[in-house]
Amino acid sequence: MHGVTGAGLLRRNGGTRPATYLCPHCKRRNEFQIHWVTRIKKDRLPAGADDRDRAQFPKLRNYMIRTDDLVTCPTCRRRFEVPSHQSLVFLADGQGPVQYDPDDDNFGNR
Ligand SMILES: [Zn+2]
Repeated sequence: MHGVTGAGLLRRNGGTRPATYLCPHCKRRNEFQIHWVTRIKKDRLPAGADDRDRAQFPKLRNYMIRTDDLVTCPTCRRRFEVPSHQSLVFLADGQGPVQYDPDDDNFGNR
């Protein structure tokens, strides 16, 4: 994964984001709370940053990683894979982990 190193230069956060998925077993749509880990760039270089950190810092981007791969359908109680291959999302500059676009999970309507 490019551009996602420099862990010491990023703040780690966790949270959930609601998403609506269609269950492949019973075909019901339900809302799920999907867990994400976000990495937000620190405001400034930490003290003790070395030359490599210094070079890397301007190129770092905020991103979040989906940590849930399987969800349990509340209707039929069966598990299925999250029908999204988007497990890493880069956040625009200044965009926090709580600003989500609810429309980007609108699929599964097959
Ligand atoms: Zn189901």
